[in-house]
Amino acid sequence: MSTEKIYETRGDVYVTTATVTDCRPVEGGFGVTLDRTPFFPGGGGQEPDVGEINSIPVIKLQEVEDNILHILASPLQVGEQTTCTLNEDVRLRRMQNHGGEHIVSGIVNRKYGFNNVGFHMGADDITIDFDGVLTREQLCEVELLANRAVVENRPISILFPSAEQLESLDYRSKKALSGKVRIVEIEGFDRCACCAPHLPYTGMIGMIKILDFIHYKGGIRVHLLCGLDALDDYHRRYAASAEISALLSAPQGDIAAAVGRLHEENGQLRGEMGELRRKLLTLRAESVPETDSNICLFEDTDANGMRHIANLCVGKCGGMCAVFSGDDKNGYKFIIASRTKNLRELIPLMRDALSARGGGKPEMIQGSCEATRDKIEKYFNN
Ligand SMILES: [Zn+2]
Repeated sequence: MSTEKIYETRGDVYVTTATVTDCRPVEGGFGVTLDRTPFFPGGGGQEPDVGEINSIPVIKLQEVEDNILHILASPLQVGEQTTCTLNEDVRLRRMQNHGGEHIVSGIVNRKYGFNNVGFHMGADDITIDFDGVLTREQLCEVELLANRAVVENRPISILFPSAEQLESLDYRSKKALSGKVRIVEIEGFDRCACCAPHLPYTGMIGMIKILDFIHYKGGIRVHLLCGLDALDDYHRRYAASAEISALLSAPQGDIAAAVGRLHEENGQLRGEMGELRRKLLTLRAESVPETDSNICLFEDTDANGMRHIANLCVGKCGGMCAVFSGDDKNGYKFIIASRTKNLRELIPLMRDALSARGGGKPEMIQGSCEATRDKIEKYFNN
């Protein structure tokens, strides 16, 4: 006896009674079949349902021939009356997203002739891959039309046409079909072969929001969210925009321009700061006394700053001018300049004494080392 699959005709039935027709041990628990079930085992891009039978969680669902096998952790009695309860929120959101996908795909197909060649329901959003390219403006039109389909609250019908009727029916399908074919028809917008549960009216889908698109495999990949997931997404985006607006002390409608001004200001400040740093390093270099031996300096600066100070000080010493930046914990970067020594010969010596690595020209080398400041100072001042 085959199971009556309630989800095939009524997607909005979330709780139902059913009688156990079989129960036997299977891998991972007990395989239970019922005379009827609301549990969709997954397919057509939609995940299997989540829920319970007599308060026992359904671990897994499998379609075996014409039956649905519900795998539970504990057994049920054959003939036992059960209550099947779906996680309504999960199922509803999936049906909303899936219904929105049908509407958008149907519109794109009818308006532009492109096919939905890939559909994925991810954790953050759903994606549809089309085998042709649409512009942002065209997608805006598609989105508006899709939302018209929602507000018009069109019926979503489930048809099981005979082979003969199917012959003359125009519908979307990803593959050649045989046997019993289930057609999901959204009046005036789409007709598509699909096995997944659907809501009975487009109004129940709620808002259809196209989020973004990218060029993909010669066509486009469209990201979208529908219904309650779109509402959640709106909440997140509104909260983020309100927070940014408060941080910028700018109205929400003006935050992009405010960030633009901030960006420009930041660039100016960076330029000014760089100039001040350079001036500071120049002053610092001027304060270094002349010496016949080496100069060893520790400065909190980047490679450009180190090079700047090394160039300014190298003429003040008879040996090497070594500039280090960093700390004992994370190690030091260095630039060393000299007018009297071939610094390439220094590298192996520094490697042995200070665990240093680096390279460069005879008159200037740079690199990093893992010695302490104390050790470095002793090395260069002796
Ligand atoms: Zn579908």
